[in-house]
Amino acid sequence: MDDLGTPVLDDHMHLDPENGRGIEAVKDFARSGGTHLLVVNKPSWLLGVEVESGEDFREVFDATVDAVERASEILDGRAWPVLGVHPGLISKLVDDRGYDPAEARDLMRAGLAEAAEYVADGPGVALKTGRPHYDVSEAVWDASNAVLRRGLELGAETGCAVQLHTEASEDLTEVAEWAEDAGLPAERVVKHYAGGRLAGPTPSVMSEKDRLEVAAEAGEPFLMETDFVDDPDRPGAVMGPKTVPRRVRWMQEEGYDDAVRNAHVETPERVYGLSTEATLSR
Ligand SMILES: [Zn+2]
Repeated sequence: MDDLGTPVLDDHMHLDPENGRGIEAVKDFARSGGTHLLVVNKPSWLLGVEVESGEDFREVFDATVDAVERASEILDGRAWPVLGVHPGLISKLVDDRGYDPAEARDLMRAGLAEAAEYVADGPGVALKTGRPHYDVSEAVWDASNAVLRRGLELGAETGCAVQLHTEASEDLTEVAEWAEDAGLPAERVVKHYAGGRLAGPTPSVMSEKDRLEVAAEAGEPFLMETDFVDDPDRPGAVMGPKTVPRRVRWMQEEGYDDAVRNAHVETPERVYGLSTEATLSR
């Protein structure tokens, strides 16, 4: 096991013990020096779950909670679940299943309300929502923004952070304002798959060297992720589970120790209220 002398958190990855590498991916992460994971549920349709009600999302959330428990047994730190509704679901519902955008919106909001219960009374630590990163009709865009805003409201009501999947952008100040209007501090909104620079929410930076260099030099709060998809049909998609620990080692070699502390200790505490140090035993 590599010990990098610091907690190492991957802020956004997926685990699919049933169909993917599952716990083997966690072992790879841990062997490379990784200690903590935020595990985001896979999109419902990729798990073959055809949702018709908010309750139908429970099967998806339960699979993630189960994977998190198994991951925590392996890690020197631990894993936590991030639960919610993938914004791409709206297209599946509207294009493939004949929903109109308002019906899709209501179903997705019901799924988010279910996820918020897992955070309020259970193991979840954050919600996941967003809007499509690809072009959609105005009606679908409006419905998606209504879902996103409901997610921010639920985060405020539940007192938890919200991870967002959105279009690529370096300026999401409008969404940050929606969060503040709902009573959720903008810093507790996290844009997953971010570049090194972002106005508004906290960026969860994809762990490529050039993006990390920008974030490290900026000195603003940031997180690091791979968006490891754990999908056997897309083996090369996005990054592997060893990437965050490897990039931490590289950052240490480059003298970015403050940035490592920022992304793996300070920002997780500030955004999620999670102490990666207090939950580390080795
Ligand atoms: Zn993801």
